[in-house]
Amino acid sequence: MEEILRFENVTIGYNEKDIIKDFSCTVNRGEFVSLIGPNGSGKSTLIHAITGIVGIRKGKIYINGKDNEKLSAKERAQITAVVPQTFQASFAFKAKEIVAMGRHPFLKRMQSETEEDYKLIDQALEQTGTLHLRERKITQLSGGERQRIIISAALAQQPQLLIVDEPTNHLDIQYTLEVMQLMQKLNREQGITIFAVLHDINMAARFSDRILVLNEGQKARDGRVSEVIREEVLKPVYKIDLVVRENPLTGAAEIVPLRSNKSAQRKSNGKRVHIICGGGSGSYIIEAFHNKGYEVSCGVLNVGDSDYELCRSLGIKTITEKPYCEISGEAFDENLLAIESADLVVLTDVDIGRSNLKNIEILEHLSSQNLYIVRENASDYTGGIGDKIINSLLAEKKAISLTKKELIEILNKY
Ligand code: ADP
Ligand code: MG
Repeated sequence: MEEILRFENVTIGYNEKDIIKDFSCTVNRGEFVSLIGPNGSGKSTLIHAITGIVGIRKGKIYINGKDNEKLSAKERAQITAVVPQTFQASFAFKAKEIVAMGRHPFLKRMQSETEEDYKLIDQALEQTGTLHLRERKITQLSGGERQRIIISAALAQQPQLLIVDEPTNHLDIQYTLEVMQLMQKLNREQGITIFAVLHDINMAARFSDRILVLNEGQKARDGRVSEVIREEVLKPVYKIDLVVRENPLTGAAEIVPLRSNKSAQRKSNGKRVHIICGGGSGSYIIEAFHNKGYEVSCGVLNVGDSDYELCRSLGIKTITEKPYCEISGEAFDENLLAIESADLVVLTDVDIGRSNLKNIEILEHLSSQNLYIVRENASDYTGGIGDKIINSLLAEKKAISLTKKELIEILNKY
């Protein structure tokens, strides 16, 4: 693959502080690469270094294999066009005048646009579907229309590489999609390489070939969407709880942000509880223990079970079994380990069947832990095996029987 843009051990800073630290990456010709990262991680700074707005302290940037610092403005403009994060249209320029600015690097001093320039301006407007807005004042256009005009100005340069910094900022979802689809079209149909700073992780996941994650001025990850849009990659960078799932309509990976750092703010009370649940019977109980500062573990749960999903969203340790499968010996042993390290074990009002009978049998292995059992509406589909175990535990006073309400009341007293 042929490279078009390369950062090589680049360090960039303002005043005393280094913002970008030893950053390296390569964008290849024809790719659609997105750069994501939290606010302030240095994304715009990287873009400013390409345009020369900020100098680089160490390392080099190469454009088409040439040292960026040695390129003249015109040479650089022949290869790459940049759409900055903030574009101030302080005058009521007409759309065509904004786009004409894209031709300025190619004009000699005092020279005005030629026939050829006007042709390219119209062509650029056409590419973004805004030719009909040619004579309109930029200040009177909608956000989406304005953004497309600004991209047209970049296209009037006939760039091989289009660099955009948060092009969908301030746009609502319809215009966001329009702008993303436009970039996709430019990439696919005209072979323009796209390097896009995006704040919307899901748009990056949906439209990019590759995603770079920047965190505090350093590269946290660089890879294909499936390698980057992962909980373990994004959670520590964005410091939020999130889950990654496949969007059923687009088939693209997407993140669902959950609560912001709630688990981090939660004060631990140093106690551990293991909850045996399933099918939603644990939902309120899991969350209540979690919020009270218990270290909660759950198991064994089938992957996809609603209690499993809740545990995932709260970042709770869960011992799992494959969907619809009986609990294996391995999962049983792992569950036993979790139970042995718990101060308290809770069996929720879960139906007992063949697939989860081992979750009941395991209760006979308890030693010193307190065991709370909730039995209100649940059924036993094991021909009485499950109920028999539970009843003998209660009869031998190895467990305390509670209603769900009583359990929650006890918890709330703490
Ligand atoms: P991002 O685009 O990822 O949100 P920026 O590159 O804009 O991040 O900013 C990265 C860091 O550099 C921030 O801490 C910001 O405050 C700082 N910074 C940006 N521009 C300047 C500047 N001109 N002078 C001093 N610090 C700056
Ligand atoms: Mg920025």
